[in-house]
Formats: sequence, structure tokens, C-alpha cells
Amino acid sequence: MPELPEVEYTARQLRTSIVGATISQVHVFWERTVGHPNLATFLLEVSERRIEGVRRRGKFLLLDLSGGLFLSIHRRMTGNFLLLPPGWRIDTSLRTDDIATWNTRGPIFLLENGIENSYSRSTAYCRICFDLSDGRRLLFTDPRKFGRIELWSAEREAEALRGLGPEPFGSDFTVEYLVGELARRRVGIKQALLDQTLVAGVGNIYADEALFSASIHPQRRSDSLTPAEVRLLHDGIISVLTLGIEHGGTSFNDYRDLWGEAGDNYNHVHVYKQAGKPCLRCGTLIERIVIAQRSAHFCPGCQKLTVL
Ligand SMILES: [Zn+2]
Repeated sequence: MPELPEVEYTARQLRTSIVGATISQVHVFWERTVGHPNLATFLLEVSERRIEGVRRRGKFLLLDLSGGLFLSIHRRMTGNFLLLPPGWRIDTSLRTDDIATWNTRGPIFLLENGIENSYSRSTAYCRICFDLSDGRRLLFTDPRKFGRIELWSAEREAEALRGLGPEPFGSDFTVEYLVGELARRRVGIKQALLDQTLVAGVGNIYADEALFSASIHPQRRSDSLTPAEVRLLHDGIISVLTLGIEHGGTSFNDYRDLWGEAGDNYNHVHVYKQAGKPCLRCGTLIERIVIAQRSAHFCPGCQKLTVL
């Protein structure tokens, strides 16, 4: 699942490539990807809007549109953006010829000259396509179909993004804030970090990496951490997210950047999906456990459950 670094990286790529462009038309190939408002309004209102800015809030990508509207995109498990240069056409014949395949795969994108290139594979599972007036196409691809794109008016941003805690890079995400919040939470620290009301944008990968960085066991109770441990954790969250962005995000299966490329942070993780490999710090083998139906990866040597 894309987390803050992956969304931030995409936001930066979009900022340099589509700000100023106009959406001439929008195609929705899977209706449920439109989360708000209804499909007819979405189709009507998104067309002929200029893209004025690109922002990120937590794991949400926000596209500001002319006329005081914005699109809010949550990629969930497998959602990605892909930007196609001009010269492609959309083949929707599966919709009438083979509805089951259509529902899984969506349309087929073909170069107008019929030649396939490196983009062809990445265009599969397109759920929504934004045609830009300069001939480019911005595709939202999503094999698992959990991703959602919503259209809101700017005045309702708080409602659209309700339930999000502070940004990890924001001035309100201080050590004091984290000490106070964790002291009143009785759940395990890994679970607490995944709660978007505590801090926005951290998911499984970066929670595991931040806990390793601070030498804290994922099952330690949040209210058992000392202020010194919370300080290390606070620093750890910021440093693993910063590195994640610098490396272009972490790709294991599905995450791709705007040009269909995998991120490089996979080569820099210490514990996430590293079970059975030796810890780079102490040599103990990394373990995987399951906490509240989510996997957690940690080093039993560096991250002890009982602190003496
Ligand atoms: Zn270790």
C-alpha cells in the first residue's frame, strides 16, 4: 500500500508535469472508484477544469482544480497514476465483447501507430482516465479496485479529509505531542502508529522501519514508552519517511511512479519483509509476527519487549 513517501513522490512528479494543464474529458471505467459525489456530477464537473496545484495530506493526493474544486485520491492497496504522452487511443471493445475480462482489466490502451512500448503493460487495470487538452492522458490504474477518487469543493476540505492527525513534517507533530498522545493510548505501539488520527501518512512499511530505528518492540504498549524512547521514535518516523521520499518510495508489488518505474527504497529497508535475514545492526535474524491482522517485522536483538 502506498504510504506517505510514495504519495509525496507522486505528488512531486505530478507538480512538475501537469500543473497548468486542463482536463478536457474524464473517462470512468469502474464506477465505484468514484467515491464522491455521484458519477454523473463527477463526469460533468471535472471536465474543462484547469489543474492549479498538487498537494498531499497523509496518504491522500489532492489535485486543486479551477473553480474552487479539488480531487482527493486515496490509492489504498494498489492504486497508481501513470502519465501517457500523446498518441494513444482507448479500446473499450471488451466492455461489449467480454464483460468479465472488462471488469477485471478495464480498457486496452494502444499507440495510434499500433506499436507496443514499455508503457503498454502499465496501462492495465485503468479505472479512471483524465484526458488532458494537450493530448496527454493521466491514468488511475488499480488492480484491486480499493482506491477512491472524490471530487469536493474547497470549502469542504475539512470534511473530505476528516479524521487525519498531524502531518509528520508539520510543526504540530512535536515530541511533546507524541508523548502526550501515546501516554493515553493502551494499544501496542505498532497499532498506534497505523492510526491516522495519531499521525497522518504512516503505514506498515514505515511503522516497522521507524520502530526498528528507535529500537522499540512493535508490541510494547504505547503508554509504557519513556519520553526518551518517544523522542527516538519521533526522530525515527521523520528520518524513515524522509529517506523513503529520497529513494522514490518503496516498491514491493504494485507501487509505481508516474512513469511506471518502481521506487528504490526497497533496497534500503532494514526490517520490513526481511524476515529470516540478519539484522544489519546486530546480526540477529529478523522476525515476522502478526498484530491485529497486520504483519510486523522486527529484530529481536535490537527491539526487546521487556526493557530492563
Ligand atoms: Zn538487531
